[in-house]
Amino acid sequence: MENNEVYEEIRQKSSQACERMNVFSKAILRTRGGRVGSGMGALLEALWGYMMNQLILEENKLDCEIAWFPDNQYNDFSCIRRDVEWNPTTRESEYFRIEVKSMNVGADESKAHFSAIKKEIEENDSLLILVWKWMKTDNTHYSPIVIDSFFDRAKGVAELRDSLHVARGGSFVSSDACPDNCSPLTCTHDGEPLNAAGKRERVTGPEMTRVSQSVSFAANFGGLVRMIKTDNENARTVLREIRKTNEVADHYISFIHKNFPDEERNQYTISELKAVSEALGIDCVGLSKAEMYKRIRSCESYQEFLKRLL
Ligand SMILES: [Zn+2]
Repeated sequence: MENNEVYEEIRQKSSQACERMNVFSKAILRTRGGRVGSGMGALLEALWGYMMNQLILEENKLDCEIAWFPDNQYNDFSCIRRDVEWNPTTRESEYFRIEVKSMNVGADESKAHFSAIKKEIEENDSLLILVWKWMKTDNTHYSPIVIDSFFDRAKGVAELRDSLHVARGGSFVSSDACPDNCSPLTCTHDGEPLNAAGKRERVTGPEMTRVSQSVSFAANFGGLVRMIKTDNENARTVLREIRKTNEVADHYISFIHKNFPDEERNQYTISELKAVSEALGIDCVGLSKAEMYKRIRSCESYQEFLKRLL
């Protein structure tokens, strides 16, 4: 089968796999209490792979399966040809790779990061994000339930992330001018992100740019919510421009905003929200920004109206 075709099939089945996870969770992952920081996210990420494999086998239409990565490359899963020798180093027999992240909506800030850089990402490599929370399943028990999920091409998200990184004053290493003074031919640091203070964001960045003697790297790059924060006018403009031209970026921003309302509210000014309220026929006289936003959010397809501001 064609690579694109397999990608499209898996993408379409992803939310079905999530539904199966929820059925499984309610039956097996029942617990009293349920807390943030439980390590449950890692379990959910793995479950997606098992549920997807079940779906693929039952349908028996695709000649692929979801494989677990044997080492600590950035991807968690690889979609590979079924029952064929697989070489993770050369990507032989691979259709595409899937990096899985989970986010608990109850957590203050998600610890999940998408920090793979462009040269590590191929055309159909995907980013899968599971947003979940503890939900009451009866009077006394809770289960971890996936309430929303994102599946799309990682390259598009990386483009959004990288443009905003630069808009915030960050940069990327070029082999021609590596802070470690490597020869351009042997430099391994090309494309490594540096923060606004010139410090490396990943452990694989140039040694000369480590944060301090005791701190190796900054590790802020690609925070799933943080990456779309815009702390200056230029960054706001960049975010809105990319959203117009990059479908994946638009999908990503809409997804994060939908699940993390504070981020969406902060993205717009009061006068912008007033304009949207009027367009939606909401009487906004005397309403605070928070109240106005809450009413806007309660309207169906409200994000389409917010996007018209772009
Ligand atoms: Zn270098």
